[in-house]
Amino acid sequence: MPIERTLTIIKPDAVAARHIGDIIKIFEANQFTIVAARLVHLTKEEAEGFYAVHRGKGFFESLTRFMSSGSALVMVLEGENAIARLREVMGATNPAHAAPGTLRKIYAESIERNAVHGSDAPDTAAYEIGYFFPGIELV
Ligand code: ATP
Ligand code: MG
Repeated sequence: MPIERTLTIIKPDAVAARHIGDIIKIFEANQFTIVAARLVHLTKEEAEGFYAVHRGKGFFESLTRFMSSGSALVMVLEGENAIARLREVMGATNPAHAAPGTLRKIYAESIERNAVHGSDAPDTAAYEIGYFFPGIELV
């Protein structure tokens, strides 16, 4: 399995609920190494740029308002097969469909306020890591 880097965000709902520590504990228990981290409060424009692929969808306005509503913890995680494995640890977008034990099953409030973000493929991981950590090595 290749060593990869992926981008995760502990979203404003989970930060406000004081779940940063719980979620990092699960990342580390799953053999992810934190190689970069920033606590941010995104502007609406930064949230729109990050989720630009979703511009035009019905949930875009509400999603970007939510993502800019409070502090979020952005991290680069490294590990074997990190991109796909993080998505498994996160669980389905909608917590109602997320498998037991996944982060979204445990911590998400709704399909929008769903606690964590994770890059979904190597090209999006590269874009998203560069969005928050310009200059960092991608692998
Ligand atoms: P993320 O990109 O945040 O890791 P994801 O890849 O599981 O999530 P996407 O389809 O990329 O899901 O959607 C991005 C985010 O937009 C979701 O995590 C969620 O916060 C929000 N979202 C997606 N679909 C809906 C929806 N139908 N209604 C409300 N919010 C939604
Ligand atoms: Mg996504």
